[in-house]
Amino acid sequence: MDDHHVIIIGGGPAGLTAGLYASRAHLKTILLESMIPSGQAYMAERIENYPGFPDGISGRELIERFTQQATRFGLDIQQFTTVDKVALAGEKRTVTAGDKKFSASALIIATGAQANKLGIPGEEEFTGKGVSYCAICDGAFFNDQEVAVLGGGDAALEDALYLSRLARKVYVIHRREQLRAQKILQRKALGEPKIEFIWDTVVTEITGEDAVKTLLLENVKDAKQKELAVSGVFIAVGQRPNTDFVRDVVELDDRGYVITDQDCATAEAGIFAAGDVRKKGLRQISTAVGDGALAAAAVERYIEGKT
Ligand code: NAP
Repeated sequence: MDDHHVIIIGGGPAGLTAGLYASRAHLKTILLESMIPSGQAYMAERIENYPGFPDGISGRELIERFTQQATRFGLDIQQFTTVDKVALAGEKRTVTAGDKKFSASALIIATGAQANKLGIPGEEEFTGKGVSYCAICDGAFFNDQEVAVLGGGDAALEDALYLSRLARKVYVIHRREQLRAQKILQRKALGEPKIEFIWDTVVTEITGEDAVKTLLLENVKDAKQKELAVSGVFIAVGQRPNTDFVRDVVELDDRGYVITDQDCATAEAGIFAAGDVRKKGLRQISTAVGDGALAAAAVERYIEGKT
C-alpha cells in the first residue's frame, strides 16, 4: 500500500490548490482524480470573475495552469482513479480505488458537486453555448439579451434576480404554479418588472445553430406547445454533491454536503473537505481555491501536531 502524508480526492480548483499548498510545504501528497484534472470549471468557455485574468480565461486553460503549478512542486496526480471507499484504520486513513489502495495521515475530500441535468435534447449540445448551470459565472455574457431560468427553487429565483440586473428580460419557467423558493425571494422576483413567470410548463427541447435560439415549451396541464426565443437558458433544478463514497465516514448535511469548520476540517480527525463539496454559502472557483489553501494548511498543522 502506498503511504502518504495526505491524499486529496478530486482534481478541480479546490483539490489542485490543496495539492499545490501541500506539496510546496513538502508533504508527500497524492491527488486521485477519476478523469483528468478538471472539475465543473473545466467546461466553462470563458471565466471572467476569477481574479488575475482581466480579459477572462477558458476553464480548460485555467485548470491546466493550476495543474502545471501544482506538479511543479511535486504533486503526484493519479488520473483515471475513481475512489470507491474511504476508511479509518487507527491513525491512518485508507482509500480504495478499484484494485489500488492508498493510505495517509490525512485526507482532503474535494470531489465537488454536479448540477442536476434535465436530459432534454439540445441541453448537452448547447452547454457553454447558451445553456448554463451558473448565473453568477455566465450571466454577464447575456447583457441586454432575453434569457430563461428553469426551476422554481431558491437557486432559480436568485439566478433570475441576478440576471434581471444584466439581461433585458428574464423568463422563469416552472413546472408547477407554486414556487418552492423562500417567500422573501418569491416576493422580490414576482415584483421585478423584468422577470416574467411561465407556469405549469416544462422545456422539452433546446434548439439553435451555433448557440441557443429557441426553447420548445409544453404546458403540463393542457399539453399545448409553444416556442420561446431566448439566447441563454440557465438550468437551476438542484445540485448534487459527490459524496456517496464518504456517506458513512463524515457528517453530511441533509442535502449531502460535507459539514466542516471554518478551516475545512470535518469532525473526523484528519479528514478535511474543500470546494463545492463542502457546506458553504458561495460555490465559485475563487472560494474553492480559498478552501484548498485552508485545507492544506490545516492538514499541515494536523500532521505537525502528531509528529
Ligand atoms: P431545489 O430547492 O431542489 O429546487 C429545484 C427546483 O427545480 C424546484 O422548483 C423543482 O420543481 C425544479 N425541478 C427539479 N427537477 C426538475 C425537472 N426535471 N424539470 C423541471 N423542474 C425541475 O434546488 P435549489 O433551488 O438548487 O436549492 C437547493 C437548496 O439550496 C435548497 O435547500 C435551497 O433552499 C438552498 N439554496 C438557498 C439559497 C438561499 O438561501 N439564498 C440559495 C440557493 C439555494 P418542484 O418545485 O416542482 O419540485
